[in-house]
Amino acid sequence: MKILFAGAGALGSRFGYMLFKNNEDVTFVDSWEEHVRNITNNGLKVIIDEVDLGNYYIPTYHPDQVRGKYDVVFVATKSMQLRAMLEKVKHLFHDDTKIICILNGLGHVETLKDYIKEENILIGVTVWTSGLGGPGVLNAHGTGKIELKQVKEINLDETLKLVDRLNDAGLNIKYSADTYQSIWHKAGLNCVLNTFCTLIDCNINQYGSYDKNLELTRAVLNEITAVGKAEGIDINQDVIENNIKNCFPLETAGAHYPSLYQDMKNGRLTEIDYLNGEISRLGKIHNIPTPVCDVITLMIHSKEFINNNK
Ligand code: NAD
Repeated sequence: MKILFAGAGALGSRFGYMLFKNNEDVTFVDSWEEHVRNITNNGLKVIIDEVDLGNYYIPTYHPDQVRGKYDVVFVATKSMQLRAMLEKVKHLFHDDTKIICILNGLGHVETLKDYIKEENILIGVTVWTSGLGGPGVLNAHGTGKIELKQVKEINLDETLKLVDRLNDAGLNIKYSADTYQSIWHKAGLNCVLNTFCTLIDCNINQYGSYDKNLELTRAVLNEITAVGKAEGIDINQDVIENNIKNCFPLETAGAHYPSLYQDMKNGRLTEIDYLNGEISRLGKIHNIPTPVCDVITLMIHSKEFINNNK
């Protein structure tokens, strides 16, 4: 089974490393020249829980250089890079290639459907975390799990076999009919914590320390719940609110600055259009006003522009 990682940043390289270590045939494709060069020349340096686990020579290419056909493709770009990456790798798919998408945010199935049959799209959500310590260096902590669902359940047996095989490498995937709900619940959390920590300039614990921020949280969640329900998603706003509160203590995620905050600080574009921006877009379709998400999206884009993020 040939597995391609279309995007081998923090999360892609972590899953790719786990599968490679379990003797799977793994290839990375990435557009970041220095990252590709370092992995090719020195191997992917893997540090997990502060332990240096060595260097792994996972075949890594720039999108123009890769050849052949792949059976499973993990897309692991940032949301706004997904379509461009699919354009670059679509010639590597055969009729039955399965795509696994665990990107944060909303709206990815619509993009994937332009490239692959619905029965071959496995959409998911993950609580694994990962980071890069520079180009060619994976620096990650802890463990995690993935929830996954085949968008159109044809030949589900094949998918379940694939899940078992990926789990042999420790990915900890649960096939779940509730995946869409989980995707929206995680997006709800990100629409609050990623954006407000960035705009207020604080970590998650600091956001939680001011009681009145609950009004900000609810202003966003009210819109997400209304739009999600119009989309047919069984959203439970209390669950999202509790998930957010559970991140506040320093012992959980309180000391963390969310990924959107880090992208903003590092001069990179953010995933805002797939979070609050997608709520605004869907709100218009369903005739549901989303003034809070509209303003947040504009403010994040304004900050990206002023910072000259790319
Ligand atoms: P990432 O930014 O590490 O990688 C995405 C792409 O950007 C890769 O192609 C990578 O090579 C490139 N890139 C990374 N740093 C770069 C730099 N300094 N210069 C140029 N290019 C660079 O993204 P990620 O964290 O792997 O996230 C992929 C998807 O998974 C996103 O949708 C994210 O929200 C989601 N996700 C991430 C985590 C996590 O802990 N990293 C957890 C859950 C979900």
